[in-house]
Amino acid sequence: MAIRKIITAPDARLKQVSAPIEKVDDSVRALMDDMLETMYAAPGIGLAAIQIGVPKRVIVIDLARDGEEPQPMYFANPEITPTTDEMVTYEEGCLSVPEFYEDVERPATCRVKFLDYQNELREIECDGLLATCIQHEMDHLEGILFVDHLSRVKRSMVLKKLAKAKKLAEPA
Ligand code: ZN
Repeated sequence: MAIRKIITAPDARLKQVSAPIEKVDDSVRALMDDMLETMYAAPGIGLAAIQIGVPKRVIVIDLARDGEEPQPMYFANPEITPTTDEMVTYEEGCLSVPEFYEDVERPATCRVKFLDYQNELREIECDGLLATCIQHEMDHLEGILFVDHLSRVKRSMVLKKLAKAKKLAEPA
């Protein structure tokens, strides 16, 4: 396993639509392992492959709290269907949008169909934080960031600040 570099916005790679994988084989499992280690080190609760520069439809999530046993979840080729009209608002953050947290409204529950770590096809019902998190990660696979759900003014303000911070960190 290895910790990979997380791409931060603004970056054209984060706007890419990720491609499905054929099946969860050893190479995909190695990717999932790296993603999990990278996410734990950050630390974060969810990570999509494109955030480490790999445009594949792979997501890892772990919602365990501090002091709890890790509960890693692996999703390949996830397909999400909202299962309610009820919307909930969570203050979201993103490892690719460091240090910004904003309220985002999303369907409260959803159903996810996916391949797991063993390449088994599974379907689960999600609510609460898991529903929000999986929808946030799913957006990454379509090249969408949580700031894209904000008003245009707010989004451009956030991206401008991020671009500026990047310039300071990595002088040309
Ligand atoms: Zn994110």
